[in-house]
Amino acid sequence: IENSQNFIMVGERTNVTGSPKFRKLITEKKYEQALDIARQQVENGANIIDINFDEGMIDGEDAMEHFLRLVASEPDIARVPIMIDSSKFSVIEQGLKNCQGKSVVNSISLKEGEEIFKQQAKTILSYGAAVVVMAFDEKGQAATKDDKVRICQRAYKILTEDVGFPPEDIIFDPNVLTVATGIEEHNSYALDFIEAVREIKATCPLAKTSGGISNVSFSFRGNNVVREAMHSVFLYHATRAGLDMGIVNAGMLTVYEDIPPELLASVEDVILNRSEDATEKLTELASQFKGEKGATQKQDLKWRKADYEDRLRHSLVHGITEFVDTDTAEALKDLKTPLKVIEGPLMNGMKEVGDLFGAGKMFLPQVVKSARVMKKAVAYLEPFMEKDKKSSANQRVFVIATVKGDVHDIGKNIVGVVLACNGYKVVDLGVMVPYDQILEAVKEHDADILGFSGLITPSLDEMITNAKEMQKQGLEVPLLIGGATTSRIHTAVKIAPEYKGLVAHVSDASLVVDVCNQILSPETYEKTLIHYKESYTKLRDNYLSKKEQADSLVPYDYANTNNWIRKNPNPTPFPKQLGVFVKEMKVEDLIPYIDWSPFFWAWQMKGKYPEILQDAKYGEQATKLFSDAQDMLKVFVESNRIHPKGVYGLWPAYRDTNDVVVLDSKTRKKELGRFNFLRQQSKKKDGIPNYCLADFVAGNSSGVEDSIGAFAVTAGDEIEKMAKEYEQQHDDYSSILAKALGDRIAEAFAEALHQHVRVDGYGIKETWSKQDLIDEKYQGIRPACGYPSCPDHTEKQILWDLMDVENKIGISLTETFAMNPGSSVSGYYFLHPEARYFHVGKVDKAQVEDYAERKGMTAEHIEKWLAHNLAY
Ligand code: SAH
Repeated sequence: IENSQNFIMVGERTNVTGSPKFRKLITEKKYEQALDIARQQVENGANIIDINFDEGMIDGEDAMEHFLRLVASEPDIARVPIMIDSSKFSVIEQGLKNCQGKSVVNSISLKEGEEIFKQQAKTILSYGAAVVVMAFDEKGQAATKDDKVRICQRAYKILTEDVGFPPEDIIFDPNVLTVATGIEEHNSYALDFIEAVREIKATCPLAKTSGGISNVSFSFRGNNVVREAMHSVFLYHATRAGLDMGIVNAGMLTVYEDIPPELLASVEDVILNRSEDATEKLTELASQFKGEKGATQKQDLKWRKADYEDRLRHSLVHGITEFVDTDTAEALKDLKTPLKVIEGPLMNGMKEVGDLFGAGKMFLPQVVKSARVMKKAVAYLEPFMEKDKKSSANQRVFVIATVKGDVHDIGKNIVGVVLACNGYKVVDLGVMVPYDQILEAVKEHDADILGFSGLITPSLDEMITNAKEMQKQGLEVPLLIGGATTSRIHTAVKIAPEYKGLVAHVSDASLVVDVCNQILSPETYEKTLIHYKESYTKLRDNYLSKKEQADSLVPYDYANTNNWIRKNPNPTPFPKQLGVFVKEMKVEDLIPYIDWSPFFWAWQMKGKYPEILQDAKYGEQATKLFSDAQDMLKVFVESNRIHPKGVYGLWPAYRDTNDVVVLDSKTRKKELGRFNFLRQQSKKKDGIPNYCLADFVAGNSSGVEDSIGAFAVTAGDEIEKMAKEYEQQHDDYSSILAKALGDRIAEAFAEALHQHVRVDGYGIKETWSKQDLIDEKYQGIRPACGYPSCPDHTEKQILWDLMDVENKIGISLTETFAMNPGSSVSGYYFLHPEARYFHVGKVDKAQVEDYAERKGMTAEHIEKWLAHNLAY
């Protein structure tokens, strides 16, 4: 930086998207303290401060107005210009209104076409502000030098010729993208930027250039020494090419000359893309610097002075990976054998983690981070171990698998990690595992306990099959059941009777250790066995006797007449365009649609977002987890690896009793397919109908032309690949995080696509807030196969055939109709304003026989799939 006196540093810490601290203060409306951050930036040398409030739960306009007024009354801060940063133009306008002196708008682009671009530029011009123009156009973000230059030149021409913008007030940001991600095409990103700057400066007279510098080093997050070196090198070359300004953490830069020569050479190779193996070399070198303090990182490292046993304990409890290799090496030297290190200091540390977790003093994300430290230590010891001595003789073995047909494994992985933390040897067989493989593994590893996991209802059936097979083969291993649709009652009624050994349902990963310990301790085993046998027998008897009374279902024929059937002649709009459409969306565009509450549930933090961030119990850890999630989303965006894809169909349709007949779009006469639905048969109060989804579509004879829709979306299979990569790096935390975010992205896509279909597909005008969407205030529903209104998973096949889902967007169906990749969502669209979700509940034999006939299946066959809805 010293090298270029004229370089303008834009302070980045007053940005809620990049600074968790600033975000917290603003969310809590602690503006005075937030102001201190702005002051620090100026003191650290920032020449401009970038201010951004783009966060779902912050009212951006309000915060902008409030904060800028406070800034204006602080001479220390107000002496530097403000960069008003928002992706919402209304927030920018609010900023412009509240800024004294010259400000800079960050940013506008050609993303939404020339008209909007010009309009926004004119508004900015009327305030006399300067503007940052991002190198985006209608097709998206420019990554290559040529695209960057082309888009900036086009914007320059429009701004100077059509809008009359002073060229000296135009600042081009040609997109700093992350290098060294491991993906070859990213290797030239830094160089592309530098060369684009050179060209833009040469061809757009008087215009300035800028960039968000810390993006370049994102793949080395956590390693500030390397990151700071990358920033300095990048700036060194970019300023020489003519870069005028950069958004940086003003306190997080090393002096170019101070970079150790070996690191400097390696970083330059990466930044300037000078050799093919540059990334690999830097990654290798980087580990040497890991844990060293960067210029800004001032950790309290007093604990490093303790003995290795204490240090390992500290690392495990706090989830710190930096020092674990060194400390493990020291332990090995002292204790001589790897096994002693594992059984001694490492297990002791993990025991403390287990105890703290058990006592509710640590939460799941922390435990998973501790496990990451443990795995790293074990990986270090691995080469020193004798082949046959990988685990100690008395270590308990837990075999765990997601059953055949099911792909969901977040819960299973969490259980695995929690058990590993508590000294178990966990043999994880993965997903979609047929029983023969499971039973083989039980024998091979001499398992002490076996766990089945599954998320979708057909997996419950698979678990029954497995239990029967275990009985047939005479196994005695205790069996634990877990996963979203599993339940105590199902375990008691359907699984436990099939197997003589101990069967227990575990509702929550935090309970699994306790259950296992009770089962495996000779003192408590007998008691535990009796406890489960007795309580499950009681549950079963209760259930069976109640079931007898519950034969109070109304006859199927009666239910069919007590239907809802749309009464209004035509309140449902008709699609503007019929057919099947593919829609791809970018992760960054889906982020605003994410419903965060279920994300915390996946980590067993019960509560609602955003309140959970302030929660007395979970607040601190929830905030950390949320911030890790933001970092990973950033990796998703920057790496450009995640490509969410969706497909939807809108067809003319009519109701035929309990089916909806789907017609071809052209003639609107030919039957393309048929959705088969089930009707409620529970006894209703007077005036309350027995619902069936088909009721929400007009009948053929109603004279009304009606429609039905369907959709499938997926976050894509790259999520799973990334999760695997993390696992290979012994990083279960990031692996589980990636999957949990994959699920969020898929759900967000379902939400975004639903809105798109309502607005663009059906022409409905709406202005719901994000919370309104989460609260499902919009018109219509999107029931998902396998859920209570339409519990039959086999119906997915019809959606798949009608929309050619597998070919179009790559989601396949497993033999039990789970969607693969797991981060996928599908369902129907019903647009009727009164369409609603309900529970089909129990159905009788007459309905099952009718349903089977409609589906062209035997009743026995469909009974298997509807096992949970059978009243007989
Ligand atoms: N915002 C949530 C949305 C998913 S849960 C998230 O991000 O996780 C709500 C979805 O579950 C609905 O949109 C619908 O697809 C499905 N659903 C809920 N209740 C249902 C029911 N009774 N029958 C069928 N599908 C249902």
